[in-house]
Amino acid sequence: MSAVRVVALSAGECLNLEALTRRGAPWRPHAYPAGFALLLHPRHGPVLFDTGYTSRVLASMRRWPGWLYGLVTPVRFTPHQSAAAQLVRRGFTPGDVRHLIVSHLHADHVGALRDFPAATFHLDASGWAALRGLRGMRAVRRAYLPELLPPDFEGRCQPLQYETAPPGLAPFDQVADVFGDGLVYALPVPGHAPGMIALVVRTSPGADLNGAGQGLTLLASDVAWNVDALRQGGEVHSLARLAFWNATQERLSRQWVRQWLAAHPQARVIVSHDEPEAAHV
Ligand SMILES: [Zn+2]
Repeated sequence: MSAVRVVALSAGECLNLEALTRRGAPWRPHAYPAGFALLLHPRHGPVLFDTGYTSRVLASMRRWPGWLYGLVTPVRFTPHQSAAAQLVRRGFTPGDVRHLIVSHLHADHVGALRDFPAATFHLDASGWAALRGLRGMRAVRRAYLPELLPPDFEGRCQPLQYETAPPGLAPFDQVADVFGDGLVYALPVPGHAPGMIALVVRTSPGADLNGAGQGLTLLASDVAWNVDALRQGGEVHSLARLAFWNATQERLSRQWVRQWLAAHPQARVIVSHDEPEAAHV
């Protein structure tokens, strides 16, 4: 069976108070990478999972009401860090990206959608339904900047089709097999944002979902701020919980991911805003 190569990348970083992201940490600003991933799929070529920031996010932050977003989470970004520029350095053109999987619609995850004109956007329909009508302050409060989406966004969306999960993805009972080939599964992890998803990717031929996680990579998006918190537990500051779309759901989703990880301890873990774990050989 074939496999997907996962390349963990980031495009820019945001500053946040460390104490908000990890209970007991000091009250000082810390830089968090805006992570995304390049998935090299045997049939579909370069597939992106999120995109990180672009200059467009900075431009939005110079105007009202995006200015408020930049006040709360200042961003550092230079154009050579964009997802498109990084792909070009790897020998691809932005037009080569036919599939872009969107974990959720926060600005640090969808900043570069407009740079990939040939991409179909795979996402959870409920996340889009919850945000699509929001404008101005109501959107910014949700870390959603509508102007980052291409004008034909809706027509290019392909909602994930959830089906009964294979037993090896328990405790999740509904997951989406994104390409219908068992290589990339989307797991619903709502709470941090509406309709957020994580991915489980087969990175070795024949990797067994029922095994200990060898040959699997978990791309957990914003389920946790750092890998340790996901593996060992650990909460964010209660002030940070105020920013969640649904704090009760957030905790539940995180527990499900931790439970899956406890059963698959050998899986490689990547969260969006922390250094990725090294790829196992
Ligand atoms: Zn987020």
